Amino acid sequence: MDFDFSSEQMLLRQTVRKFVDDEILPHIAEWDAGGAFDPAIWKRLADLGLMGVCIPEKYGGSGMDYNSLAIVCEELERGDTAFRTAVSVHTGLNSMSLLQWGTEEQKEQFLVPQAKGEKIGAFGLTEPGAGSDVAALSTTAKREGDEYVLNGQKTWISLCDAADHFIVFAYTDKSLKHKGISAFIVERTREGFSSKAIKGKYGIRSGNTGELFFEDVRIPASNRLGEEGEGFKIAMASLDNGRFTVAAGACGLLMACIEESVKYCQTRSTFGKPIGEHQLVQQMIAKMEAGFQMSRLLVYRAGEMKNKGIRNTRETSLAKWQACDFANQAADDAVQIHGAYGYSDEYPVARFLRNSKAPVIYEGTREIHTLMQADYVLGKREDRKLNRMLPAWPFED
Ligand SMILES: Cc1cc2nc3c(=O)[nH]c(=O)nc-3n(C[C@H](O)[C@H](O)[C@H](O)COP(=O)(O)OP(=O)(O)OC[C@H]3O[C@@H](n4cnc5c(N)ncnc54)[C@H](O)[C@@H]3O)c2cc1C
Repeated sequence: MDFDFSSEQMLLRQTVRKFVDDEILPHIAEWDAGGAFDPAIWKRLADLGLMGVCIPEKYGGSGMDYNSLAIVCEELERGDTAFRTAVSVHTGLNSMSLLQWGTEEQKEQFLVPQAKGEKIGAFGLTEPGAGSDVAALSTTAKREGDEYVLNGQKTWISLCDAADHFIVFAYTDKSLKHKGISAFIVERTREGFSSKAIKGKYGIRSGNTGELFFEDVRIPASNRLGEEGEGFKIAMASLDNGRFTVAAGACGLLMACIEESVKYCQTRSTFGKPIGEHQLVQQMIAKMEAGFQMSRLLVYRAGEMKNKGIRNTRETSLAKWQACDFANQAADDAVQIHGAYGYSDEYPVARFLRNSKAPVIYEGTREIHTLMQADYVLGKREDRKLNRMLPAWPFED
């Protein structure tokens, strides 16, 4: 095991940190209050090579390893969860799925422009009647000659209005239950497709989340990702990558909670001393640090397994569950440390707390990950090699 970051990874971290400090933090309170971030940020992410950091260079990416994606997610979420969520769905849930499951033609057509940041990708699994229970989805894709016709609705989809391409899951044969689900690449420009943002979100307010509608949307059969009936497997494999980015982002939120709390501890005094000298405040700081360090180890272990081409569903689920719970608790404690001032938008910690909740819900709720971990330990679940694995790193030419 190697616990050191490479010089390339350290440079990447410095670059993203500077970008966050200079171009996100000065504006985030305003973007959060206004319900959207400046779309010019997309171009900046692309210019910095952050839209395809772990996608091979031959497909338009930066060709770095999977832990470099974790570094990007950590540093972006130190700025705000909305930016990490954008990279999670664009790279983790969409581009990495194209890399794993796409044909060479699909990679050329969809992955290359996404990795370069010329197009944005997103992931449509959740429906009004199907969240944790994926097999309850009701969107259908009917084969007609060389086309599929999609009908249905998705909800709570990140980047619903911003993305150009969506990976969408639909039943091609409902009688087969989850083995009748297939995956499709759907472009926003298809007739019959529309999207609508959800207003009044509790957190990640500068991020775009909402509904997708498919009314007789016709797509070529060549837009099917994987074989008919492989959709459930593709969705779960995609989540292995998405959850990894969510867990890494939670480490960034933990860093932000520590930074802000330490600053406040040093400036606020009660009973004749800085609050950082009260043991009960120290306890909250110590818990944040423990959560941060433990989460990081879990995240980078999962990343190392990805680098080696080893299936990591179990390890990624544990990292996602624990890191998001630690971040949620740390954000709650950060507000507590700030007292009444934490309960306003004068300090960023209230935003941290609001932002920390969605990751405990999306990409597998806390309860779903608890059940998964219990099943592994009880011998009721095991990970087997998939027919198509994410390529190991270093990538082959
Ligand atoms: C900000 C945000 C962004 C999102 N982005 C995306 C996206 O880009 N793409 C996408 O497809 N989805 C997205 N989602 C949706 C998200 O993945 C779902 O909300 C999540 O899977 C949970 O589904 P649900 O909300 O329907 O809750 P439900 O599945 O209805 O669960 C409700 C409650 O019941 C519990 N529960 C359910 N089943 C069990 C069980 N078997 N045992 C114990 N408890 C159980 C859950 O843990 C939860 O507490 C996003 C959600 C949010 C909040």
